[in-house]
Amino acid sequence: MRKAKVATTWLDGCSGCHMSLLDLDAALIPVARKIEMVYGPLVDAQEFPDDVDVAFIEGAVSTHEDVEMVNRIRQSSKVLVSLGDCAVTGNVAAMRNTVPVKKLLQTVYVDLADRGCIPGAQLPQLSPLARPVQDFVKVDISVPGCPPPSKVIGEVLEKLLEGRKPEAANKLKFG
Ligand code: SF4
Repeated sequence: MRKAKVATTWLDGCSGCHMSLLDLDAALIPVARKIEMVYGPLVDAQEFPDDVDVAFIEGAVSTHEDVEMVNRIRQSSKVLVSLGDCAVTGNVAAMRNTVPVKKLLQTVYVDLADRGCIPGAQLPQLSPLARPVQDFVKVDISVPGCPPPSKVIGEVLEKLLEGRKPEAANKLKFG
């Protein structure tokens, strides 16, 4: 039987949603028999593949590079899952949205730092707003929570592997 190709991506998030995925612990073993992890921080793949069955996105969209990434993921994935409140609503990542980027960088890297300086153009430049994934591409499944409980992530993945649509968004509360 062909294994489902699964990818995960970490945009403007804290990695907590990926940690919750890993918290499946022993439950990961039967899942691992059914999937091939083809992209993400858990595997060593440099390019997002062309034919992904299920893609999980953690984090908000906060840079031009993030926008390119979510478009690339959407084009290449049958099912796109927004994983966690940052991807679903902006959440923690969007707390900066009331402060202009220039003032934000000055405060964080200079005013509050000891002889700090603002990172150069070689790093991804912040967009004016951190926004949820659904503002840019069609999202098939939203899994809220900060982070979503590992049990729920496992149930979502299990149902998707069975070809069923999970109703995670209806069962969970934000935060
Ligand atoms: Fe971290 Fe919560 Fe955002 Fe997930 S939803 S990336 S746990 S802040």
